[in-house]
Amino acid sequence: MIQVTNTYLPEKRKLLQYIEQIYQNGIVTNNGPLVKKFEQELKNILQTPNILYVNSGHTALLMAIKSLKKEGKIITTPFSFVSTLQAILWNGNLPVFADIDSNTLTLNPNHVEDYLKKKQKALAIVATHLFGNICDVEALQYLSEKYDVPVIYDAAHSFGMTYKKKSIFEFGDISALSFQAYKPLHTVEGGASFAMIKRLSMSCLTCVTSV
Ligand SMILES: *Cc1c(COP(=O)(O)O)cnc(C)c1O
Repeated sequence: MIQVTNTYLPEKRKLLQYIEQIYQNGIVTNNGPLVKKFEQELKNILQTPNILYVNSGHTALLMAIKSLKKEGKIITTPFSFVSTLQAILWNGNLPVFADIDSNTLTLNPNHVEDYLKKKQKALAIVATHLFGNICDVEALQYLSEKYDVPVIYDAAHSFGMTYKKKSIFEFGDISALSFQAYKPLHTVEGGASFAMIKRLSMSCLTCVTSV
């Protein structure tokens, strides 16, 4: 049996070394040294300065959508964790569902285009890479450029995944990552926003970190 939600726990001895550091410096929250170290390592691994570690994947999604700085209709998938939809609604946006692809179970770009083609304005496309399946990033990129609409990925499931040898986070305008305990890489709870600097800037992200 393959357990899809089996939490990986580090060797206790190694973990205790980090806990020891926490006892020595007394900092357990608010961007402490271990958070900074982890964020720096993410920047090194993903080769980008544009990553911001936050307290959850949901916060990363909230921030990504907040950085649009507008309210409006957002085309999204009906098949994701509830967090995707909540982040859209909590930002005051109206979700518009496009159907999924029956093979990958991710947002089907043809259905997204059906909506956009009718001259219906959308603020953004929010798509989820699901269960190790990658969205059709090329088709969504094409739509993004053709209709001038940003793409935000809920990339909670997809740390370490690549497409054509590139990190999956390099596609779209922002990817929201989760480091919750059931995800491929975890910090018990946690998340990060990875911004590709195109339409949305890193300053958009940092100015909404107080959510
Ligand atoms: C886990 C998950 C989230 C939320 O991540 P948290 O870190 O638990 O807030 C968002 N979207 C998807 C698809 C997820 O699986």
